[in-house]
Amino acid sequence: MKLVTRAALSWPPSAADPASPSRGLVIHYDSSDQGLARKPHSACLAYWRRTRAFHMGPSRGWSDLGYSWGACPHGYILEGRGLGRYQAAQGTTAGNRDWYSVTLMSGPNEDPTPEQIDAVRQLRAWLMSKGLGAAVKGHRDFFSTSCPGDRLYRLVKGGTFSRSPEEGDDDVSAKDVWTYEIKVPFGTKENPEWQAKSLLLNNNERIRGLEEKVGELTALVRELLKEKS
Ligand SMILES: [Zn+2]
Ligand SMILES: [Zn+2]
Repeated sequence: MKLVTRAALSWPPSAADPASPSRGLVIHYDSSDQGLARKPHSACLAYWRRTRAFHMGPSRGWSDLGYSWGACPHGYILEGRGLGRYQAAQGTTAGNRDWYSVTLMSGPNEDPTPEQIDAVRQLRAWLMSKGLGAAVKGHRDFFSTSCPGDRLYRLVKGGTFSRSPEEGDDDVSAKDVWTYEIKVPFGTKENPEWQAKSLLLNNNERIRGLEEKVGELTALVRELLKEKS
């Protein structure tokens, strides 16, 4: 995990109340597009400092930045409140006490980069090695809010952030289908047992049939040419 610590940001340890989040990780976003993926990583650090100043300023008045961590498009995890602290992000007391939070620092029209998704997976794996539960939720699961945006929420529900870092993104490869005869739902009552493998086998049979025919025709052409000469 490429971690940017509070110490690296020259921040003192978080003044937020101690807590022992154990349930899982909550995904957040920024309500406006930030374009950080197109900018150098220094822009992410500036964003992180700005967000902390905003959260500690007059409009929020919190003791520290609201999130436990941030995951930037370049694949870095930026430390916010860090381990063992109450959140200010989740919108409910239980949510802030029992769940860690991570923001993807992006807006409603931005997709996370593969590096960013992997950073969240690495963060989660690290937290789980420290005893955190496996659950991944979106902010809107706790509180009526647009956060983490429809794009990120779809990924939350689809399990994108719940995979282990090494797992990659292909649920089932063609090789898996072939080797393990994994059933692919065909969606009709008449054909509930349809498998991708049967389609591959049928294609193989057809190709072999065509090869035979081509062989026969080639032999025929050769014979005709011989007769002609
Ligand atoms: Zn949020
Ligand atoms: Zn970055």
